[in-house]
Amino acid sequence: MINVFQPTLGKEELERLEQVFASNWIGKGKLVNEFEAIYAEHLGSTKDRVLSTNCCSEGLFSSMHLCDIKPEDEVILPTVSFVGAGNAVCANGSKMVLCDVDKRSLNATAEDIERVITPKTKAILLLHFGGIACDMDKIMDLADTYKLKVIEDCAAGVCSTYKGKALGTFGDMGMWSFDAMKILVCGDGAMLHFRDPELRERAEKWLYFGLQTKSGYENSVAQKWWEFDISCFGHRAIMNDVTAAIALEQYKKLPTYMEKRAAVHEFYNEGLKDMEWLDLPLPIEQGCTSSYYFYHIQTKNCMRDQLAKFLRDNDIYTTYRYFPLHRVPGYGVSGIFPGADYAADNTLCLPMHQSLSQADTEKVVEKIREFGKLYC
Ligand SMILES: *Cc1c(COP(=O)(O)O)cnc(C)c1O
Repeated sequence: MINVFQPTLGKEELERLEQVFASNWIGKGKLVNEFEAIYAEHLGSTKDRVLSTNCCSEGLFSSMHLCDIKPEDEVILPTVSFVGAGNAVCANGSKMVLCDVDKRSLNATAEDIERVITPKTKAILLLHFGGIACDMDKIMDLADTYKLKVIEDCAAGVCSTYKGKALGTFGDMGMWSFDAMKILVCGDGAMLHFRDPELRERAEKWLYFGLQTKSGYENSVAQKWWEFDISCFGHRAIMNDVTAAIALEQYKKLPTYMEKRAAVHEFYNEGLKDMEWLDLPLPIEQGCTSSYYFYHIQTKNCMRDQLAKFLRDNDIYTTYRYFPLHRVPGYGVSGIFPGADYAADNTLCLPMHQSLSQADTEKVVEKIREFGKLYC
């Protein structure tokens, strides 16, 4: 089976792990610190704005508390959002207000968002679909006008930029995931960015029990180092030196990952461009960069499900992300979302990862062409 997503792991990660074993320090330590510093630089930001945590979903959940979102507040999110985003809002007791998305990019536009703003709106929880930037100029203007917080779910946008600036660094908070399905992977882990360093300080406490005091291990307390105080009833959600070791080695490989993914993207573009029954991904906007997380095609004739099955029968696994929240019965939200409905019924994410061989990508193209000849 050709996987739709797949991590690329090598001996460098294993060797780094051996060093961690030898050090006998597997908790949060120097390597987490090093990864945060490197990632801050990667974002073109500063270390006092960057903080790691155990997963991006924790970032979504914590954003509610950190951005001061109360149960009586409304939070706008695109209906095409990750389930954790919906859960974060609902678990906070706040009202989840869904907006539609562009049917081709699957990103919410400023117009989609503005249509559902009310006096109770407190924040926008934005998804950059597949790490491709939403129109941040317009959305940040909107947020300014209505005094809204902006939280950017940039989970898949590890190398994405908007007009030269790292995606995820525009809003009050941004976050990236390093789970098993992403590009830079470390088992589980995530990075958070805060526009305001003070918020990062609060987040650091929030993600570690709200602890105020340093531990005795750091030799910063003269005596009775077991005593402590808390500033809030915080969580415990941190990376550790095992996951950070993998992340640090993965980080070095990002440029080659991007090259490979861009090449696969180009190969699909070329191989599928004359298929009249298909829409290919939109070109990336001038001045922006993509992380090539998804390669999503759209069937114009509603044959998406048949295509997915045909490919799976031919050992090619594909999927659709993200199932719109207005279709999830558990949320109990209804409304009219023509863009999202079109996207959800016609979009298919093709295999996209660094370990795809030439033969793999050729097979994907060939089987899609074969399907077209047979049915379209
Ligand atoms: C993967 C993903 C997440 C969650 O990341 P975890 O680190 O697994 O919690 C959140 N949002 C989007 C868009 C994702 O793709």
